[in-house]
Amino acid sequence: MDDVPSSPATPAPAPLPVLQADCANCFALCCVALPFAKSNDFAVNKPAGTPCGNLQQDFRCGIHTRLRDKGFQGCTVFDCFGAGQQVSQVTFGGRDWRTHPGTARQMFEVFPVLRHLHELLFYVSEALTLPAATPIHADLRRALAETEEWTRADAQALTTDLDVGELRQRINTLLLKTSELVRAKVPGRKKNHRGADLMGARLSGADLRGANLRGAYLIAADLTRADLRTADLIGADLRDTDLRGADLREAVFLTQPQLNAAQGDPTTRIPPTLTRPTHWT
Ligand code: SF4
Repeated sequence: MDDVPSSPATPAPAPLPVLQADCANCFALCCVALPFAKSNDFAVNKPAGTPCGNLQQDFRCGIHTRLRDKGFQGCTVFDCFGAGQQVSQVTFGGRDWRTHPGTARQMFEVFPVLRHLHELLFYVSEALTLPAATPIHADLRRALAETEEWTRADAQALTTDLDVGELRQRINTLLLKTSELVRAKVPGRKKNHRGADLMGARLSGADLRGANLRGAYLIAADLTRADLRTADLIGADLRDTDLRGADLREAVFLTQPQLNAAQGDPTTRIPPTLTRPTHWT
C-alpha cells in the first residue's frame, strides 16, 4: 500500500520559521532598530533607528571578531530568535532599508514585535517536547499556530492589529502550567526563587532541581557545580553567572542568549538543543 496521508484533503501545517539568528539573511536589524546605552555591555550610546557606528555598508559588523575586546559584550549575548531574517526576507520581501529608505521606519518598528513572536514560538515549541506537559499539548499547539500565523502577517497588521502584550500574557499562562507539570515530577520540596534578587549569591553545589527561578536576578551569582536540571529559568538574568561545572540538562525554558551572557567551562552541562558559547574555555 502506498504510504500516503489518510486524509489528503487536510493541508500540511506550514513549517515553523527558523528560531535562530541567520545574520547573512538579515539587514542587520538589531544593529539599527534597537537602542543601547553606554555600560558594561556597550561602549557607546545609540538611539533606536540609528545604525551602529561599527556597521558596514554590507550589513556586517566591522568588529565582529573583537566585540568583547572593544566593549560590545552585549552584542555577543543578543539573539533575535530568527526574527531578523523573517522581517528582512518575509515581511519586507528582501527589500533592505538602505536601498528602500521608505521602508526603514516600519521595518524597525516591526522587528521588536517579530522578536517577541519568535521568542514565544521558541518557548511553546520547547513546551511541546516535554512529555510532562502532555495534558496541555492541545492548548500549546493552538498557541503555536496562532503565533506562527502572526509571524506571516504584513507590517501594517503587525504594528496596528496585534496586541503582542495580550498574546504574551495568554501564552505565559500556558508556560507557567508547563513549568508546574514538569517540576511536579521532581520528588521533594522544590525551591521557589521566582523573581528573587540573587545577585552575587553563593549557590555553589546547590541542589536546584525543579526550582522555580523564573525572572530571578542571578547576575554574578556563584552556581558552580549546581544541579539545575528541570529548574525553570525563563527570564532569569544570567549575566556573568558562574555556571562552571553546573548541570543545566533538562533546564526548562533556558535560551541561548542566557547561556551567552553567563560564564561556563567545558564541564558545564547544557541541553543538547543549545550551543556552548565560544568564550567558555
Ligand atoms: S558593534 Fe557590531 S554587532 Fe554590535 S551593534 Fe554594532 S555593528 Fe552590530
